[in-house]
Amino acid sequence: APVHLASFCGSIIDTMATVAEKKRIALHADIPEELFIEADEDKLRQILLNLLSNAVSYTQDGGKVELKVRELQDAEGTEKVVIKVTDTGIGIPKKDQPRIFERFYRVDKARSRSSGGTGLGLSIVKHLVELHHGDISVDSELGIGTTFTVELPMLQE
Ligand code: ATP
Ligand code: MG
Repeated sequence: APVHLASFCGSIIDTMATVAEKKRIALHADIPEELFIEADEDKLRQILLNLLSNAVSYTQDGGKVELKVRELQDAEGTEKVVIKVTDTGIGIPKKDQPRIFERFYRVDKARSRSSGGTGLGLSIVKHLVELHHGDISVDSELGIGTTFTVELPMLQE
């Protein structure tokens, strides 16, 4: 069923607002009003919640997290929805970036111990993105911040 991204993402942002407020993290959403995607709502929610909760967890107090959605046409003319989750957090070292989508992989036990995760979040996200025939990538600078980009086809075959 088509999902209206502005209202769907709006409710996800509302879910995250309390956690973000506790850390005084500004949570922004930038989503075109008229955009729909053919996707499984539960899976899409899990993708966004995982990326947003990582962004909030790995960003220091007073930082910023943004969820940005755009529409684009790829080289073959396929309509895509591009979702970017950007934070001003601790960043991910270049050497670890290729491995963060592996099950149980966590960058550094010392820094992630306090967040108490399992290291499964991103492996699940990648799996769910692939179920939608999409792609996920990361762009991160240590001490500056991180952007995860998810590209999903707007329509399923
Ligand atoms: P879980 O999500 O299972 O509770 P987790 O957050 O540690 O645990 P993943 O979500 O798979 O596991 O992330 C893997 C690792 O990638 C994290 O431990 C963290 O070191 C790093 N990471 C993920 N997202 C970010 C981010 N936005 N900023 C900095 N580091 C990140
Ligand atoms: Mg996580």
